[in-house]
Amino acid sequence: MSANVPTLFAAYQLRQLEFLLRISRAMTSRLELPSLLELILRSAAEMVGAPAGMILLQSEHTLLEPALASRFQVRALYAIPTEALAAFEPLLDAATVRHVQDAVAAVAGSNQPPAIDLSGRVHQVETELGMTLGQVVALPLLFEDDFLGLIYLFRGDYAFSQLDWQFLQGFADQAAVAVRNARLYSLLRAESSRLITILENSADGIMILTRDRIVVAINHTLAAMVGIALEDAVGRPCSAVLPLENVAGEEEEMKSTFTSIISHELKTPVALIKGYAQTLARPDAEWDGATARAGLQIIEEEADRLESLINNLLDASRIQAKGLRLDLADVDLVNLLTRIADVYRTQANLHRIRVAFDNSLPPVWGDEERLRQVFTNLLNNAIKYSPQGGAIAIGGWFRQAQNAGSAPESDAPESEFAPQAAAKDSVVIYISDQGIGIPASDLSKVFDRYYRVDSSLRRSTAGAGLGLYLSKVIVDAHGGRIWATSEQGKGTTFFVALPVDPETL
Ligand code: ADP
Repeated sequence: MSANVPTLFAAYQLRQLEFLLRISRAMTSRLELPSLLELILRSAAEMVGAPAGMILLQSEHTLLEPALASRFQVRALYAIPTEALAAFEPLLDAATVRHVQDAVAAVAGSNQPPAIDLSGRVHQVETELGMTLGQVVALPLLFEDDFLGLIYLFRGDYAFSQLDWQFLQGFADQAAVAVRNARLYSLLRAESSRLITILENSADGIMILTRDRIVVAINHTLAAMVGIALEDAVGRPCSAVLPLENVAGEEEEMKSTFTSIISHELKTPVALIKGYAQTLARPDAEWDGATARAGLQIIEEEADRLESLINNLLDASRIQAKGLRLDLADVDLVNLLTRIADVYRTQANLHRIRVAFDNSLPPVWGDEERLRQVFTNLLNNAIKYSPQGGAIAIGGWFRQAQNAGSAPESDAPESEFAPQAAAKDSVVIYISDQGIGIPASDLSKVFDRYYRVDSSLRRSTAGAGLGLYLSKVIVDAHGGRIWATSEQGKGTTFFVALPVDPETL
């Protein structure tokens, strides 16, 4: 008889291994929690010859709602009819689970079986059921320090041995890992289906690409936009689904515009400077003072023109790369405009520059240097594009917000002096000229980068089409708005509305 004990023990261990193998295989192949729990419970019960059992798991919502952390639910049953479940309540309530948790915590790390005494509760269940459950083993499902739930196995008359308990606990540890994985998997699936729903219901076209720009997902909106079936798009290169040639084309066009502007705008002043400098420096010529001064003045003007072009180009590329940083303070616009007008009055003798404000204006919250750049550019343009001269009027008014939170301001041209509804308290400044005007079709385009209205004057005046682009970037950064009204041959008025309240920035 004694000779058989090691053999029996070896056979027992072999069976243990078999069961553990079954569970670990299931862990990798089955991620559906209900079927995994059912397999775990059946395997555990069969292994130790327990006629019945159940698995309790912490409520699944606990990851999202910590308040539910203490709730446990029966998630798998072995040989126990669902109708009988009510009778097991004494073993399922929160106090019982807490008792198991405490007992487990008391022996944590010691490899000792926890002292779980459930006999009183088992007795209550037996009374309710009218049958004997016998010995009950409660196996905690622990993942690291996380108490995920527990397995109950009922064994009738036949008691669980220490060996059973050891094996079952190793088994429960494996099961805990499986439960944890399955839970993460279902959470991941819920998240991904939520993402798919958002993607599907978006009115915007959305496509997800791999690093190599292969389409892994595309929503109906985008598929409809580009006229492709969903299944045809997935797996194909992005360029085959959404041809971006236009964007690249625009980029190319921008580059060539840039090159032609640079070559024309740089060449002209450089050629003039070089020509005058060479002439003035000729060793065989004697220049009188007036001629030399006139030549030097042209050199200076052309150098200024070059400097302003270079500054505009640098500014535009800096803003494009880093955005615009404003140095904010209270700015008195009346004072600023008066000073700018004074500078230009000394230079423009064909034009009458008038600055007139009916009322005093509140200061705006802005970057004075940047705002100076905007108004200098507008005044410069007013002069540049009215070659016959005429009156240039600078003025403005305070425009009160009519309805806080009302619809955004419309882009309809505002009549010169009549205040219209505004979303925020602002100061509106205008600069009007009696120059060549801007055709209606070009009115909104003049704010685009490098855009210049095609005219004979355009060809003869210096400019890179960057001034208004930069002005708009600056006004936008102040939370303001810039627009123009114009009549060809009669003149143009540019308006700049700047909010008074720093909160609006
Ligand atoms: P630039 O003056 O360097 O060409 P801007 O960006 O300042 O560039 O202006 C863009 C274009 O808008 C100008 O080329 C011109 O055609 C038109 N424009 C600007 N201001 C006026 C104005 N006051 N009157 C007529 N046309 C104007």
